[in-house]
Amino acid sequence: MSLMSGKKGLIMGVANQRSIAWGIAKTLAENGAELAFSYQNDEFKKRLKPLMSSIKSDNSFECDVSKEASEFNSIENMFEKLSKVWNEIDFIVHALAYSDKEELKGKYVYCSRENFLNSLDISAFSFTRIAKSSLPFMSSKGGSLLTLSYLGAERTTPNYNVMGVAKSALEASIKYLAMDLGKDNIRVNALSAGPVKTLAGAAISGARHVFRYSESVAPLKFNPQLKEVGDAALYLTSELSSGVTGNVHHVDGGLHSVAIPKQENLE
Ligand code: NAD
Repeated sequence: MSLMSGKKGLIMGVANQRSIAWGIAKTLAENGAELAFSYQNDEFKKRLKPLMSSIKSDNSFECDVSKEASEFNSIENMFEKLSKVWNEIDFIVHALAYSDKEELKGKYVYCSRENFLNSLDISAFSFTRIAKSSLPFMSSKGGSLLTLSYLGAERTTPNYNVMGVAKSALEASIKYLAMDLGKDNIRVNALSAGPVKTLAGAAISGARHVFRYSESVAPLKFNPQLKEVGDAALYLTSELSSGVTGNVHHVDGGLHSVAIPKQENLE
């Protein structure tokens, strides 16, 4: 029997075949999980549908996490629709974030109030809102909520700016959610990925420098990509991590563990 057979999960954040959410979805499907997807709008739906067909998944729902509960494509309405298809859900992967591209360059000190609130709402608060809305549908045996973070939550990285602040809020949220939901055996974790070439990644100015630096300084000497992130997500959504919650799990080739790089790694 496969590791995820009999498990049902929702994947949020597939933009295309390069998305971290898609890397995770593929691995989970290969290991027997039954998946449903959410997409931000029709533009994303077009790209999602052929990917879903490739893993024989049928269920998808429009959801823009910035919408009010009363709107048809809100988080709350998505769970209403999902509950008509499935009685229970075992896991959710939240792999989405947003900030105005113009503020992912230059200095954080010039961040606008509007973009600060929007970035934190979409990239951090949405996870808490999703956790709350999913509670009535989480399996009676418990479940796993997984989100995606980045090293820029812990320390500064070039041009990450308000997204670093949002990821810090997201990482703090997983600890509070883990405490709230632990008694129902719902585990809440973040996977902190190294740089991956995706649409969202390309919005951050100076990505080439970050890629090169990360792979030269990381102990493993490469930037883990979709396969490694998918494999770690398999661990965090399956029974293999039954004793793990409130944790930020780094899949970055070990980069987070380096304080001062070796001289030769900088040449
Ligand atoms: P991506 O562009 O493939 O995916 C980003 C997704 O966010 C898209 O599907 C988009 O539709 C969704 N999204 C944005 N605003 C939304 C909204 N209002 N409502 C619903 N969905 C919305 O990029 P990705 O790099 O795969 O990003 C996935 C996650 O991984 C993000 O949280 C990102 O911060 C995180 N992450 C990325 C990297 C990297 O280097 N690419 C590294 C660490 C963490």
